[in-house]
Amino acid sequence: MNGLWKLGTAFAALMAVAGGAAAEEKLAWRLFVSDHAAGKVTVIDALAGRTLDTVPIKGPASLYRTDSGRTVFAVQGPSGVVQAISTGIAFEDHGDHGDIDVTAPRLVDLDLAGGKPAHFVERRGRIAQWFDGEDRARFLAESDVLDGRSRVRTASVFAAHHGVAVPYGDHAVVSIPNPEDAGKRPIGARVIDFEGRQVGADAPCPGLHGSAGSGDLHALACDTGLLLIREQGGVPEITHLPYASSLPEGSSSTLIGGEGLRYFVGNYGADRVVLIDPAAGADAFRLVQLPTRRVHFAVDPIRPRFAYVLTEDGQLHRIDVIDGKLAGSLRLTEPYSMDGHSSDPRPRVAVAGDRIVVTDPLKGLLHLVDAEGFRAAGEIAVEGRPFNIVAVGGAGQSHATE
Ligand code: ZN
Ligand code: ZN
Repeated sequence: MNGLWKLGTAFAALMAVAGGAAAEEKLAWRLFVSDHAAGKVTVIDALAGRTLDTVPIKGPASLYRTDSGRTVFAVQGPSGVVQAISTGIAFEDHGDHGDIDVTAPRLVDLDLAGGKPAHFVERRGRIAQWFDGEDRARFLAESDVLDGRSRVRTASVFAAHHGVAVPYGDHAVVSIPNPEDAGKRPIGARVIDFEGRQVGADAPCPGLHGSAGSGDLHALACDTGLLLIREQGGVPEITHLPYASSLPEGSSSTLIGGEGLRYFVGNYGADRVVLIDPAAGADAFRLVQLPTRRVHFAVDPIRPRFAYVLTEDGQLHRIDVIDGKLAGSLRLTEPYSMDGHSSDPRPRVAVAGDRIVVTDPLKGLLHLVDAEGFRAAGEIAVEGRPFNIVAVGGAGQSHATE
């Protein structure tokens, strides 16, 4: 049997190599935290635990960081706009080592206004921004955004609907709206180019919702399983991975992609998550039962073996994605019931280096957890209702004296 569930030994060796860091390295981690009610992003030095800046934006935002960590996008559905913040942390590959360059965070000159901006997907510096109220998706490059150039391409998505686009250079994968009622979930996915041509056959995906990248794969969640997208010669190719017949009734509609290990974690019922390794054959889907309903989950990019789930009883759980089991639980917040409206303020989870960070909007706090020992490690106060959060940073060399 293949797949990462059997990777234990190779994984240990990999982590030993990763631990051999050079002594002259500089470390920087920043947290970007949006507010549940106000138009602002608080930028926090995660190592010093202090606020660096408060960036005014137009309204409450969902936040997305790019793979490079150079940009955080603030998607503001109710305000009908997408803005972007240069994080001020950039890495440059110098071959045998990486350099880190740290400058002040700043709002960049991007004002993507449109009808109901929703799902945001970034792949290798290319961005697809979906607008639920429009029949065209917009595509742009992170480098253009950072340089203040507004080069935006669009592609038809047939009818306005709550869907998603995945960017692949001169192609994109886009959701296909329900032909009877575009207000319902999409029915499939299609590869298109920017001249309006379709490439290959439509891939059926009833109930399409949820998208994530991991390694060389991008996945879309359907009622029937996952669509897996691979790039072949610059053109995306779609295959279908059906849910295992051993799974109980259900499906995923939110996915996150593993970093460092190629897997996906998704919802599957209100009080479970599913771990998905497309290479594991009959063991591709494994369910992890939670004690109560799930509020939010995140993967650990530094310790790829772990993902974290916050449940409505205020506990943070560590999931060992190789063993497929809970590996520790820690009470962090007061209960945040999943009853009520989906847009109510509830905690969100991010990982910044050695710290897992959990927002606590009703207390105006960030809870810090030591990721190695899985122990509470302090709090950071944030004015207002800290809600969505992303972290960027890492270690690199700085050649100040060379
Ligand atoms: Zn260098
Ligand atoms: Zn959605």
